[in-house]
Amino acid sequence: MGDLFESMILNSKTFADFDFLPEIHQALEEVGYSTPTPIQAQAIPHLLEGRDLLGCAQTGTGKTAAFALPILHQLGLQRRRSVPNTPRVLILAPTRELALQIEESFQTYGRFLRVRTTVIFGGVGQGKQVASLKRGVHVLVATPGRLLDLMSQGHVTLEGLETFVLDEADRMLDMGFLPDLRRIIARLPRERHSLFFSATLPGKVAALAESLLSDPVKVEVAPQSSTVELIDQQVLFVPTQDKLRVVEQLLNGPDVGKAIVFTRTKRGADRVAKQLTAQGIKAEAIHGNKSQNARTRTLDSFKSSKLCVLVATDLAARGLDVEGLTHVINYELPVEPESYVHRIGRTGRAGASGIALTLCDATERKQLRAIEKLTRQRVPVHPDFEDRFPPGAGDAPPPPKRNRRPRRGTSAHQMDSGRKGTLSGKTSKSGQSRDRAAASGEAATAAGSGRPRKRRYKWLAARQS
Ligand code: AMP
Repeated sequence: MGDLFESMILNSKTFADFDFLPEIHQALEEVGYSTPTPIQAQAIPHLLEGRDLLGCAQTGTGKTAAFALPILHQLGLQRRRSVPNTPRVLILAPTRELALQIEESFQTYGRFLRVRTTVIFGGVGQGKQVASLKRGVHVLVATPGRLLDLMSQGHVTLEGLETFVLDEADRMLDMGFLPDLRRIIARLPRERHSLFFSATLPGKVAALAESLLSDPVKVEVAPQSSTVELIDQQVLFVPTQDKLRVVEQLLNGPDVGKAIVFTRTKRGADRVAKQLTAQGIKAEAIHGNKSQNARTRTLDSFKSSKLCVLVATDLAARGLDVEGLTHVINYELPVEPESYVHRIGRTGRAGASGIALTLCDATERKQLRAIEKLTRQRVPVHPDFEDRFPPGAGDAPPPPKRNRRPRRGTSAHQMDSGRKGTLSGKTSKSGQSRDRAAASGEAATAAGSGRPRKRRYKWLAARQS
């Protein structure tokens, strides 16, 4: 049982303690929530009083309901009719997937209220979105680009806005949305209720929060490191050329229900999905080059368990909330360490446990170290996949030589340690073995043989049989 779930149980509040409209209590009952998560317990009372809020929390903590429930309560109390093109509440999210999920939450929690919610995002035709806005809107969930587009065409005006929510602010800035955000913020009414959510608060994000919020309450839950603790993590040191085979065998493991495989690039996602499918593991890729319809279709099959393996880039998977996700497999390490936390946070949601397996080749050690620094913990090493790369391998790749075929079989990773481990995380002594291997020079044993080494994965083979 993870920290989040424990703190939900220890938390003495129940939803019955909140003075919500009966329609909201009814929706919560239907959806099966009885105990507020820590961010809900801390934020909801202040939001019901109309205070501005700075929420330091990431997805998976229940933050959507933390802001959606008080907003819906307020709208339900006012019982005002929706006005065409003039939202009363605006929620900005960095990606289409997150925007869709937020809208879905508003529909779920507001199902017994007469509240109209519309979601707008780019990558699809604007016709349906424009028509929906015209019918009247209380709550608008939007990505910044499409919102600016529709504002400039006169399909959205922010004149009647009462509440503004900025979700995943750090990610917005990472994605280069600051200029768009500034343009949107400049159009917000001065008198408003503002909520700001971010997983991290680096300088620029904190400055943006300060410019937006007025005397905010600060609520902080599950700092990154402790959220990460909910998840059973392991790193597997695997040479690049063996990664696909290892992923394939991991996915064939008996404990795998649904899995997301993360790649660094869109092309990589397509390639891995294609190769897995060729090996009989039905997998589909999801990334920014796919049409919105294709992304929605793929996600729906994944959510309904028709598809069990999704191969995704960081952007596409941002904010994804998929029930029953058992495994996150990092085929490649992300460039930014924060993305690792977001990736593995796709599993282990709302107190459930999850498994995150990271395949690291010699060139990715630096990224692994950056992740460990950020989360302030070592990622345990899988005992069958210890770091046997030569010390310093991958730190400075040699410049490519012309007219020379690369030497094969020079990787020093020796797989057959003969020790057995389990997928669900019977871990080795954390990073110690990695350091030991590097220091002792064991790694050099297979180097320079000149012939490709046939690798056998005893542990994996045993699991399959
Ligand atoms: P979020 O952080 O908003 O993306 O929410 C993460 C997940 O937790 C979603 O699947 C929610 O449906 C679920 N959730 C939110 N609040 C609660 C609660 N109080 N009890 C149980 N599950 C919840």
